[in-house]
Amino acid sequence: MQITEIPTPGYERVARCRDQASGLHALISVHDTTLGPALGGMRMLPYANEAEALEDVNRLSRGMTYKSAVARTGLGGGKSVVIGDPKKLKSEALFRAMGRFIEALGGKYITAEDMNIGIADLEIVRQETRYVTGLSRESGSSGNPSPYTARGCLVGIQTVAQELNGSTSLKGLRVAIQGIGAVGGRLGELLLQSGAFVSVTDIDQDRVAAFCKKTGAKAISESDFYRAEVDILSPCARGKLLNDHSIPLLRCRAVAGAANNQLDRIDHADRLSERGILYAPDYVINGGGIINVACELLPGGYDEAEALRRVDGIGAALAEVFALSKKLGVSTAVAADRVAEQRIAEGKLKK
Ligand code: NAD
Repeated sequence: MQITEIPTPGYERVARCRDQASGLHALISVHDTTLGPALGGMRMLPYANEAEALEDVNRLSRGMTYKSAVARTGLGGGKSVVIGDPKKLKSEALFRAMGRFIEALGGKYITAEDMNIGIADLEIVRQETRYVTGLSRESGSSGNPSPYTARGCLVGIQTVAQELNGSTSLKGLRVAIQGIGAVGGRLGELLLQSGAFVSVTDIDQDRVAAFCKKTGAKAISESDFYRAEVDILSPCARGKLLNDHSIPLLRCRAVAGAANNQLDRIDHADRLSERGILYAPDYVINGGGIINVACELLPGGYDEAEALRRVDGIGAALAEVFALSKKLGVSTAVAADRVAEQRIAEGKLKK
């Protein structure tokens, strides 16, 4: 097994691991550990080449620094990628080698699930390193993050309601959700329980039919989603949906949902604000999962009540972002970055 450094300006450590025996070719990017060890998921994808993987891992690792800073998880930002086709390359030897790679960083990087990596894979990684989070509840870990992400979104939507209506009440609020998977489905249920009117769209029509039958939500088409005359559009499926094409169509008052990377470009947040649409920055409102997983690292171990209390802090974090956006006259997306940068700068002063 060979570990080599990839010097990268602006990043604390970026390393490559190649292991001939298992075929492992992986990268770990540690962006910033000012606020704590760098926690971020491991993903496995058949990247065209290492340069593409490097760009992805560094972009994601930097994003984790910002997300954790705003969420006050007490963690820094990192990410790892395994290069290769998960259907062909997954093996015990591969994940054991990945575990040894993580261990070699001495706790600077802590891993978790991400695209194409499941709990079974992480259980193998765990045999070689303790720097693994997000395993099963039975093993003392924090379990599936999605219900916590959904709860964080609900609390975030209450803060959005406060901005729109002067009240956190969700009664009568009209919300359209795109994607009723693990997060969107749970969020839809929570919203309905809170008295909101919920409409849903998903590429999986059977899922839509089952969800509407079970909950009484209304089904809409994807094109109706963008044009929906609702208070809140809640993207919970895919990224880059807020773009040159979609923004002029919108008739909502706010966008607040769990999907990552909702803006095609950061200046699309300005286009939203020009149209009078309030944007809840994705990495602030969808931080419930990372907040929950970070609680595994608390001195006394994982405690669900404490995790929920911290997830509920997303409401105040969003309110801070909205207030800063007004004060500085910048978009809410830029304001969120400023909040994160401020926290990191404060952390550096304390060191
Ligand atoms: P999921 O795979 O369980 O659900 C996604 C749903 O979206 C599925 O029902 C799928 O059919 C649907 N979908 C996919 N593409 C679509 C499209 N183009 N139009 C409409 N529907 C579409 O995923 P999830 O865990 O619920 O995550 C949803 C989003 O939230 C993702 O962007 C994810 O990165 C983000 N996120 C999730 C978590 C978490 O804790 N799971 C945390 C932070 C961010």
